[in-house]
Amino acid sequence: MIGVFGHPEAANLAYLGLYALQHRGQESAGIVSTDGERLYAVREMGHVNDIFTADRLKHLPGTAAVGHVRYSTAGESTIQNAQPIAVNYAGGSVAVGHNGNLVNAIELRERLEAEGAIFASSSDTEVIVHLIARSRELTLPDRVADALRQVRGAYSLIFLSEGMLIAVRDPMGFRPLALGKAKDTWIASSETCAFELLEADFVRDVEPGEMVIVDKTGANSFRPFAAQPAHRCVFEWVYFARPDSTIDGRSVYRARERMGRRLAVEHPVPADVVVPVPDSGVAAAIGYARESGIPYDQGLMRSHYMGRTFIEPSQQIRHFGVKLKLSPVREVLAGKRVVVVDDSIVRGTTSRKIVGMIRSAGAREVHMRISSPPTVGPCRYGIDTPTREELIAFDHTAEEIRKYVGADSLGYLSLEGLFASVKGANEEAKNGFCDACFSNNQPINVQQPARLRQLRLVSA
Ligand code: AMP
Repeated sequence: MIGVFGHPEAANLAYLGLYALQHRGQESAGIVSTDGERLYAVREMGHVNDIFTADRLKHLPGTAAVGHVRYSTAGESTIQNAQPIAVNYAGGSVAVGHNGNLVNAIELRERLEAEGAIFASSSDTEVIVHLIARSRELTLPDRVADALRQVRGAYSLIFLSEGMLIAVRDPMGFRPLALGKAKDTWIASSETCAFELLEADFVRDVEPGEMVIVDKTGANSFRPFAAQPAHRCVFEWVYFARPDSTIDGRSVYRARERMGRRLAVEHPVPADVVVPVPDSGVAAAIGYARESGIPYDQGLMRSHYMGRTFIEPSQQIRHFGVKLKLSPVREVLAGKRVVVVDDSIVRGTTSRKIVGMIRSAGAREVHMRISSPPTVGPCRYGIDTPTREELIAFDHTAEEIRKYVGADSLGYLSLEGLFASVKGANEEAKNGFCDACFSNNQPINVQQPARLRQLRLVSA
């Protein structure tokens, strides 16, 4: 998600920014711009590179824009659910991009539908624009605050109207959101790596519970919600964010490198080479190698040209899936005792294939090291994880998982080690994070399992 305010080529900047954020969603992308008179929108299924031709960008005039890349956690992967959503309401027009997942969207939607509302998508975000349209408040910021006081869950949001851009982070601060500036242009972005690309300076993170309103008077900060303990998603540092970003002042790369160092202390093993699973395991593998003194090498190559495959593989040829992405470097692996480092095991299927691949390349021993604790809880706050039953660590011990993936040994980073790595050496306190995926301690009490009652829309 990226917002740009105060630039003659706002949509072009948003477009470039979305390249830096593509890892946060590959299903659909969109940009809405404004020239102060009305909103203009382009939204399509697919990657940023496929969607925004020069011709399409020409249809996005104006000095402010909001862009979004989507990966679905609530609602299906369809064009109706592509963002930013743009609507007209009694007070004007508004577009919004949402990063996160609301936990009471279904209840709110049912209530609104009972009152006569009709929905055009199955996305949880559409509930927010309905609440804005119905608010009795007079200004857009007041309407937004009024709407958001009724929703629960994870939301970092960027709103765009004809005259202002509003960046809001939920009171628990699950998902990141940062502010940057390039000369007179304000930029709000899900991750700071977009500022590098746009040659903008990082100003600061939007704080949990903060609403920043950017208009022609500048950027002004408001606190419209009651304060709550912060629950920053720890998985952003483990896997989701790009390593060249910082979140709430902490470098993602440095945190991952420390996770690898700590993993080497917690799970040492005599070996000849440390190999990352690219790209997600690279920084932790570097840390493991540095701490253990075992040489680091690239034993697996990742294809960056995969895009989407055209065939939906049948069961017989499904195993080609991982091979399309990863390939072993026999020269590095043959005859060696290999430590292979990855960030997480979810279902276990990828790890099993990777271990098999390393063995078939001639490795003598394969020791798997994971730079996070076992994934035991589903995420209801914006990371797409399967139901609890599909998580291999939900009902299997580490030893059973080791057998399943076929490794000679398996070591997970402890939760304590993870927090120590994210916080850095100087900080003791453990609070301030959501670790539901690793502890199943859900910070918000939700009755319904995340996947069972998905919002449904007729198939197009
Ligand atoms: P598996 O254990 O086969 O389900 O896959 C685990 C791999 O998927 C790990 O290497 C992670 O890098 C990656 N991964 C973990 N969580 C996610 C997620 N929410 N979305 C996509 N990939 C993920």
